[in-house]
Amino acid sequence: MKSTSDELKGYKGLARKKLIEWGVRVWSDVRVINDAGSVFEGVILPRFGYFDDLHLVIKMKNGYNTGIHVNRVKSIKEIGYKKAIYKIPEKEFPHSDTLRNVTLLGTGGTIASRLDYRTGAVIPAFTPGELYGAVPELADICNLKTKKLFGVFSENMAKQEYITLAKTIGEEIAAGADGIVIGHGTDTMGHTAAILSFMVQQSPIPIVIVGSQRSSDRPSSDAALNLIHAVRAAALGDIAEVQICMFGPTSDYYGLLHRGTRCRKMHSSYRSTFRTVGDIPLCMVNKNNFEYLTQDYLPRDTERHVMIYPVFNDRVTILYYYPGMNPDLVDALVEKGYKGIVIAGTGLGHVNKPLYPAIKQAIKQGVHVVMTVQTLWGYVQMYVYDTGRDLLDIGVIPLDNMLPETALMKLCWVLGHTDNHDEVLRLMRHSVNHEITEREPHNGYLILQGGLPEIEKFISSHWK
Ligand code: ASP
Repeated sequence: MKSTSDELKGYKGLARKKLIEWGVRVWSDVRVINDAGSVFEGVILPRFGYFDDLHLVIKMKNGYNTGIHVNRVKSIKEIGYKKAIYKIPEKEFPHSDTLRNVTLLGTGGTIASRLDYRTGAVIPAFTPGELYGAVPELADICNLKTKKLFGVFSENMAKQEYITLAKTIGEEIAAGADGIVIGHGTDTMGHTAAILSFMVQQSPIPIVIVGSQRSSDRPSSDAALNLIHAVRAAALGDIAEVQICMFGPTSDYYGLLHRGTRCRKMHSSYRSTFRTVGDIPLCMVNKNNFEYLTQDYLPRDTERHVMIYPVFNDRVTILYYYPGMNPDLVDALVEKGYKGIVIAGTGLGHVNKPLYPAIKQAIKQGVHVVMTVQTLWGYVQMYVYDTGRDLLDIGVIPLDNMLPETALMKLCWVLGHTDNHDEVLRLMRHSVNHEITEREPHNGYLILQGGLPEIEKFISSHWK
């Protein structure tokens, strides 16, 4: 068989040579036996520029992709040919006068994507019709309108995107939305949740950010369930704050709603990656119920007037302190014109002594320096040791139990308003929405986070 370049798409070097030699091609349904006698059955996928030339990749019947080193292939046989067409069937999203209206704003990320194996591009699955085709349950929950604002992976979210999002939320509320869902990549979802908590205040309706750890073409995808939970929280939930909705436990028992200022991605691949830090989550949500875990939230109230503050100064950075950090790092930031530095200090909020003069100099030059803790749970307590007091004397602002990323987003927002030190100090220490709390719940880092129930289940199934 003579293969065309499309049939060898992305395969180069040795792998390409081998495919030709074996008489198989991209989209061949193959049976492979490797040198250890293991059998793999699946479809050969195209490869893309950044992959090596030693593996062939097949999509196996269970939905997972696997790479097989070409030198380990003992035999390979084409048993069929399945050219994939990843097109989601579009169905018109139905409208019901008895259901609430939800707007879904798309920013990108895995939840909005599905890999097109033919081109390697990520294609959006985003119009209401596509979403209805993929997740028909949504039509029982609300009337859905979608707006694609951006199509980026979340590491590309920044000042302009935050401002556009905040303004669009204001417009949608003014247009009468009963709830807003934001589809977002999970990697920096915590940052967006934090900045929107400051830019959008006193919302009358829920603003729910949702994503997925695994794309919708994978069997273990969390995309559909997260979307159902988020749309329910937006349409029917009572919490009118900026919140994140993602898997609670690693299984699909329930989703959790986390407050936007207190939430963090804590695992690179688990579906239950988001955790409320320094508090407990707001609510458990499943396909039928909401179980509110606290009364302390802003309830839905369509009479309330939202306030949108779309300001952001991006000359702010975070210094994750490590032993031996050199003071010239701080000098360099001042020289480059940074206006704000968030320190994620060790323990109760510490950095080494050699840094003090550099920090003092930075503050003298009008840079605002704030302190948070790397431990994430617990408080900055700079009165405990002399060294902490010295830093306070220099003018470092302690931020109690504000999360480092939340502090970063807040300082960007505050410095978008003012450069006056006393005002910066006042605004940073005044809690807008629980970014600083008076106390943290005992064992809050475990309870109601999808932690203990799973451990108990695990123990009971293994200790019979
Ligand atoms: N890299 C992706 C993002 O944050 C991951 C995801 O969507 O979950 O955009």
